[in-house]
Order: sequence, then structure tokens, then C-alpha cells
Amino acid sequence: MKTSFITSALHKKNELNQYRVLREFSENNFVNFSSNNYLGLATHPLLKERAIAFTNQFGTGAGASRLVFGHHGYHTAVEAKIAKLIGSEAAILFNSGYQANATILHALADKNSMIFADKQIHNSLLVGANNSQAKLIRFKHQDLNHLAELLELHDASKRRIIVTESIFSMDGSITDLPNVIHLADKYDTLLYIDDAHATGIIGHNGMGAIANQRGIDIALGAFGKAAGAFGAFVACTFEMKEFLVNFCPGFIYTTALPPPIIGAIDASLDLIPAMHAERNTLFNNVEEIKSFLKPLGYHTESHSSPIIPVMLGDEKLAMSLSKWLEQKKILAYPIRPPTVPAGTSRIRLTVSAMHTKSQLMMLKDAIEQWQC
Ligand SMILES: *Cc1c(COP(=O)(O)O)cnc(C)c1O
Repeated sequence: MKTSFITSALHKKNELNQYRVLREFSENNFVNFSSNNYLGLATHPLLKERAIAFTNQFGTGAGASRLVFGHHGYHTAVEAKIAKLIGSEAAILFNSGYQANATILHALADKNSMIFADKQIHNSLLVGANNSQAKLIRFKHQDLNHLAELLELHDASKRRIIVTESIFSMDGSITDLPNVIHLADKYDTLLYIDDAHATGIIGHNGMGAIANQRGIDIALGAFGKAAGAFGAFVACTFEMKEFLVNFCPGFIYTTALPPPIIGAIDASLDLIPAMHAERNTLFNNVEEIKSFLKPLGYHTESHSSPIIPVMLGDEKLAMSLSKWLEQKKILAYPIRPPTVPAGTSRIRLTVSAMHTKSQLMMLKDAIEQWQC
């Protein structure tokens, strides 16, 4: 049968305890520790209001791709606003972080290029790297000495690109960005930073680790996480923007982001710079969770990151803790291979400024009571 490979692939996934299912949740009954809505902006009245206002004024769709008359004043205005807040020459919108990552490297690199990438970069960046046909060289996760060794070792006459994240999506680790920028400069290498998890929660104006930084060629931020909307952007030079407009398939061959989304992004950009109190609460919540995980023997990173991995190792353990937490009305997603390396399955907690003290206590009690 022509579909028998599908049946057997799914069967194998199940045997490996890696089967994924789509499940509907009514968040009302659960405390959510798996959302990237770090500041609660996804339900903020100003975002809703402006999404509606833009819809009323401009409609629900952009009508076409940016280059084919789908480019409107609201796109220009929001890109200018992003660039101003970040402190970059220019900004360019993308329909999603995934789409940007999967297609920008294709424009930047060719089969004669070399991409130096952290071992744990997001799947979308890997897809982009593979699409480009460049030689892909991986450095050990967060090991900048290893990166420097590899840069030293490999042909400097070729086009080279360093690709890494500022806050890693799977373990929350935070990259020593000044040092990466230094290496890129020293070895005259292009630098691509995926800042998706940092937009809204750290940096100048709250606009991420990439804000007010020189020396990053592609600085990618996202609006679907802390910004509470959807879509992504690259902050870059005028020239890089022109290059992407001309060569990046994920920009050229897709319908532009629609008015309601641009409205929500626009409102989030008005709110984010001043959300110091929410960012404070967020990082206080992070510290509180770490303070009760540590005595329970769970290794936590020393730096403060809104993504906290509870490392369990085995897939079954990760699934068992996730199920237990769910019985206790807590949502915490188990992360398993192939998303992370074998033997490093974990529960990933994502913390929000909206979590209350009593919700943090609920999490503490539930994890303490778990018998594996
Ligand atoms: C979420 C994420 C993306 C994808 O962004 P979307 O806008 O959700 O498609 C890309 N890179 C990293 C590191 C992410 O965490």
C-alpha cells in the first residue's frame, strides 16, 4: 500500500515514546507553564483594540506579497518603528520566525560558503542551513572557545556565517553576545543571531539582546512570543534589507502580514519599552522557581532566563512528570528527542509575569509530591 510507510513511521514514533498529538486545552482550568506569552500581551486590551482598528481601517488581508502591491503604509510604518526601538538602520518584517530562518540562510549562503552553528539551534535554522547547501560546521552548545577553534581551522577565504541564538529555546541558556560579536569581527565572519525568545523581555527598550548592538548582520526577533502577536522581523542595515528584498524567497514569495496582525504588533511596540514592572515580576518568578527546584536536586542554570528546563533524562520520566502535573492542573510540556539529544529529555517550564505567587506554590507542591 502506498501509505504503509506512514503507518509504520507513526508506529515507530509511538514505540520510542516520541509520539506527538494535538490536544485542545481550555486554559481556564489550568495554570500554563508552557506558553511564551511572557508578559501577558497576547490578551492585552490595547493589542486587541488596535488589531480591530487596523482591521476596520485596512481590512483583514494584505492582498498580495510585499513586492506585488501587497506593501502598504502600515508595513512601512511598523518597520520604521522597530528600527527606531532597536537602534538599527532598518528592519524588515517576516511572516514568522520559522519562515525567516528557513529562507534567509538560503539567500546568504551558497554551496561554497560555511555556516558555523551551535549544536542546539532551532529546527528552522537547520532547515535554512541545509537549504543553502553550505558546509555546516557545528560547535558545542554555548562553547565559544570551540567556535573560535573552528573559525581558526577553516578556510577564511570562503564566505562564513556564524549562526546562534541569544536565549536558547530548549534550555533557556543565554549566549555571551559581546563575545560572539567579537569573534565575528575578529574573523571577519557574518553574524546571524536568533533573538526570538528575547524580544520584549530583555535589552534596550525591552527589544531583546540584539537591541543597540553593532556587529550583528542578521538580528532576528519575533512577535509571536512575548510581544503577544505574530510574525517576525530582522533588524539590519539598509543594504542587508535591500538584499533580502531581492534574494530571500521567504520574503518574496509570500503574502504580506495582514492588518490585524500589524495592528497588534504596533500596539505591542508601544507597550514593550515601558514594561519594566512586568519584566521585573517575570524575573522574580524565575528566581522563585529556581529556588525551589534546586533543593529538589534539579540542576538549574546560574543565569536568569524565562525558560527553565527540568532535566529528567529519560523520555518516559519526562512524560510521567508532565502527566502528573497535568493531573494537578498544570501545563508543562515534555521535550524529547529528536527536538533535544537522546538522554536529555526534560520538562520545559516557561515563566510569565502573569503567574501569581499561589500558582508558583502550586507548581512547587506538585513537583515535590511527584514520585517517579
Ligand atoms: C519560536 C522560535 C522560532 C520560530 O518563530 P515563529 O515566529 O514562532 O515561527 C525561531 N527560532 C527560535 C529560537 C524560536 O524559539
